[in-house]
Amino acid sequence: MEKLSACIVELHFVNPWKIASSQSTGGSGTHKTVIVELSDSSTHAIGEAAPSSLYAESAAGTLAFLQSLDYCPLSFDDVPGSMTFLDSLPGIPMAAKCALNLALLDGAAKRAGKPLYDFLGLGFRENYHISSFSIGIDSPDVIYKKVLEAAPYPVLKLKVGAPQDKENFAALRAAAPDKAVRVDANEGWKTKEHALQMLEWLVATDKKIQYCEQPMPRDAKLEDLVWLKTRSPLPLFADEACHTVKDVARCAEGFHGVNVKLVKTGGVSMAFETLSAARKLGLKTMLGCMIETSVQISAAAHLAELTDYLDIDGSILINNDPYLGVTMEKGILSFADTTEKHGLMVAPR
Ligand SMILES: [Mg+2]
Repeated sequence: MEKLSACIVELHFVNPWKIASSQSTGGSGTHKTVIVELSDSSTHAIGEAAPSSLYAESAAGTLAFLQSLDYCPLSFDDVPGSMTFLDSLPGIPMAAKCALNLALLDGAAKRAGKPLYDFLGLGFRENYHISSFSIGIDSPDVIYKKVLEAAPYPVLKLKVGAPQDKENFAALRAAAPDKAVRVDANEGWKTKEHALQMLEWLVATDKKIQYCEQPMPRDAKLEDLVWLKTRSPLPLFADEACHTVKDVARCAEGFHGVNVKLVKTGGVSMAFETLSAARKLGLKTMLGCMIETSVQISAAAHLAELTDYLDIDGSILINNDPYLGVTMEKGILSFADTTEKHGLMVAPR
């Protein structure tokens, strides 16, 4: 590789963003991501790291790591070999690995003259895949306003795990009586009994809830997860408890599905492996995201054919996305109008 460059980009939220695990910080108005560019004499490629404090990673730490890679035997012609090299580096942040994996695959697919979804052998059905739109934790009146603003999106995901969960759900329903809804507790229900009580309340209150993500803490005992799974009236998806393919077997015991994110897997290659392993074990699959630009969101969208559900709205929760890639008109994913036709299909705005 002739050149590796990286920089921090500060993203601005359309609305302040708060979830169960960030309530103590009062939510936030900005978020930092890291963009990486790889190039050799003929190919220029881009990737993104979306480091999250949830996983003890920061933009500064990720950037410092990327800038420390002065000897860098990465090659668009050997993505598996390049990933083996990255895996050999002690303490590589998963976010940094993700950014480099995305850039390597962007370059490799560009070299092959294919969109990444075809390079991966998956294909992509236009006007088929729908992403949910996420509503963060807030006061019921703000939830009501946000849900009205989300009118174009047919599926909502409500963040729960707050003391006012019931009032927030009622506010969502007042603004959107009929939409399909998913809920995400982000580890916010601390005991199995409380989690079951909330799940039973949700289904007693509403018939259009599709599933619940991560009801209990990521390190909950397996016996408690199994207890909840056997009693839960809603399908349960592991998010914080499922990082890579190594976690899938445990998740198959305690959950009905897994939420895979590129920032947890360290990129598209491991996300592909994790989603495939989950399907083999009969788990439902979804792809999620952090707060990200269209670089990482588009990368995830190339894996859509391996999923049952998508929640990749990170780029529409911000108002200064520097890139154009997959679009989400009315929540429907489309690469039809991208200016870049190969690789991640992402271009600067
Ligand atoms: Mg989640």
